[in-house]
Amino acid sequence: MNKQRTLKQAVSATGIGLHSGAKVEVTFRPAPANTGIIYTRTDLQPNVSMRCEPDAVRDTQLCTALVDLNGTRISTVEHLTAALCAFGIDNLYVDVNAPELPVMDGSAHPFIYLFESTGLVELDAPKYYLRVARKVRVEDQDKWAELLPNEGGFKLDLTIDFNHPAMDRELQHFILQFSGPAFARELARARTFCFMRDVEYMHAHNLALGGSLDNAVVLDDYRVVNPDGLRYPNEFVKHKMLDAVGDLYMNCHNILGDFKAYKTGHALNNKLLRALLSDEANYELMTITDDHKAEPAIEFLHPASRSMASTLSF
Ligand SMILES: [Zn+2]
Repeated sequence: MNKQRTLKQAVSATGIGLHSGAKVEVTFRPAPANTGIIYTRTDLQPNVSMRCEPDAVRDTQLCTALVDLNGTRISTVEHLTAALCAFGIDNLYVDVNAPELPVMDGSAHPFIYLFESTGLVELDAPKYYLRVARKVRVEDQDKWAELLPNEGGFKLDLTIDFNHPAMDRELQHFILQFSGPAFARELARARTFCFMRDVEYMHAHNLALGGSLDNAVVLDDYRVVNPDGLRYPNEFVKHKMLDAVGDLYMNCHNILGDFKAYKTGHALNNKLLRALLSDEANYELMTITDDHKAEPAIEFLHPASRSMASTLSF
């Protein structure tokens, strides 16, 4: 039987908040079966907790933010969520002392490293997958995203469309058969990117004060500004795919189906997941048992519980 997963022990990370530029500390704690992923703002008295779910995503301007009905928010959750998807972590407490998670290096890699070092445990409860039962499609002008039934696993096919000298057309399309190892190898290190003119605008308006070349790929009108260049030749489309992995894991269940999208982003990805869940005929919550060997499954990251990193700083 495929079982639910959580962390083996608590672990913390510190880093800079993208919006505030201030130091942020986050602690991840193991959670029991069927908890889901629960975020808690420990800087508020009393503390405020909210469950990670598609309906809690209420702001997708600069990043994906969870916002509760009182307006309490936790921003920049998408890269962490993508890492959780790669490990198949269903249950976790995430305690953060600010309105946002640390942006780390603008990718999911620091979270992969952290959880690989910490180790996982399986819980005595079946893991639920979200199997796509029929096609769902959402559109916004020329942008679109869809989920389709498939024969096995989770496959992503994404195209971006930027007209920029540093973005080769042939490098704006990417297909990935998703697995934890494939995510860690192909997507995890892809960083957020933005344009210099947007950075200047945001800083002038007191936005993204923590944004820098340490946590984003920045492009001017001609080239990549970062002195070390790109981590992958196609880092831009890979980052958009990383974002989609995180956005589609907002209800803490791994998807079994094909994801196809053109020029999608956080808002459209969230709309797609909500559309899938809006009608029970669109999906099936299923478990995978040992006598179902022929059923589709996903290989997750299996951290060797070797040396323990108890903190990580960025
Ligand atoms: Zn992102």
